[in-house]
Amino acid sequence: MDKLHIESSWSQPDTPFETPLRPQNLSEFIGQESVRERLDIFIAAAKHRGEALGHCLVSGPPGLGKTTLAHIIAKAMGTQLFVTSGPAIEKAGDLAGLLTNLKKGDILFIDEIHRLSKIAEEYLYPALEDFSLDLMIDSGANARTVQVKLNPFTLVGATTRSGLLSAPMRSRFLISLRLDYYDSETLCKIVQRTAELLHLSLALDAALEIAKRSRGTPRIANNLLRWVRDFAQIHNFSSIDVEMAKKALTMLSIDEKGLDEMDKKILFVMIEHHNGGPVGLGNLAAAVGEEAHTLEEVYEPFLILQGFIKRGPRGREATALAYEHLRRRKGSQLEPF
Ligand code: ADP
Repeated sequence: MDKLHIESSWSQPDTPFETPLRPQNLSEFIGQESVRERLDIFIAAAKHRGEALGHCLVSGPPGLGKTTLAHIIAKAMGTQLFVTSGPAIEKAGDLAGLLTNLKKGDILFIDEIHRLSKIAEEYLYPALEDFSLDLMIDSGANARTVQVKLNPFTLVGATTRSGLLSAPMRSRFLISLRLDYYDSETLCKIVQRTAELLHLSLALDAALEIAKRSRGTPRIANNLLRWVRDFAQIHNFSSIDVEMAKKALTMLSIDEKGLDEMDKKILFVMIEHHNGGPVGLGNLAAAVGEEAHTLEEVYEPFLILQGFIKRGPRGREATALAYEHLRRRKGSQLEPF
């Protein structure tokens, strides 16, 4: 496997491989205690009343468990899950097909719900509130609408950008669950669980090493573990110790703070080309060759959380910590990158 391929793929969703690793119920879902507790009560109460669960909004950066929670909800409710995403729904008709197929209590999962078109959004409101849909029949002079009754269903909306959700859309959700980045100890437990599922012998300190470099994200932790497993396998090691894990992770250019090449490139461009900032998102994206929304949704939140970047009204700025991490001093070039 060449290095470029590794770097572009390890942080991406890996759906066919992810499926067997997904926690099946809330007790297998590690961390995010307050989300779990609320969801547990919410599900138990709805089941007790024999009603469909109220609509839920799940927000947080990619790879933190939003889709997993939708699967868990459907399983707990004993209903079916239908998965789609905001950009996939192009016309209102796409939604009509989906909604009229739902049975009582079924879960409709719309990923990236903030990217739903305005028309689709407005079409969805009566379905969410009254479980009814206005269908347009015929066209031109014969055009008329008929109202169709839907089975009570649950919308689980997922978003990486809850701030972009319109206020009317937001108000349709009965409960809003915010997933935060995981701390290293929690991620370590996730790595150990995955190792068990993959029948790997993994030392505790190796699991912690992987966890520390996973940007607080279970998907990345699982993907890094798979990479470490492949590395150990090629070197004929049946068990993985911390030295092996470190060697494998070094090959991916992930440093001890969990920063990968793109993170470092972002900081480098800010410091070297823009004297630490402020620099606008568009400029930064062009300079590092990445989509602006990927920078904003994937890279920036972690760099901000770790204190390497701060965001102000005039753009992004590199903090003293970023200078220190790249071994730079403001206004000078002390050591080569
Ligand atoms: P999102 O929808 O937020 O992008 P996913 O739900 O697809 O993220 O999660 C990515 C992977 O990470 C899942 O396949 C699952 O194996 C793992 N995962 C996520 N959250 C947890 C958790 N709390 N405990 C254990 N594994 C998790």
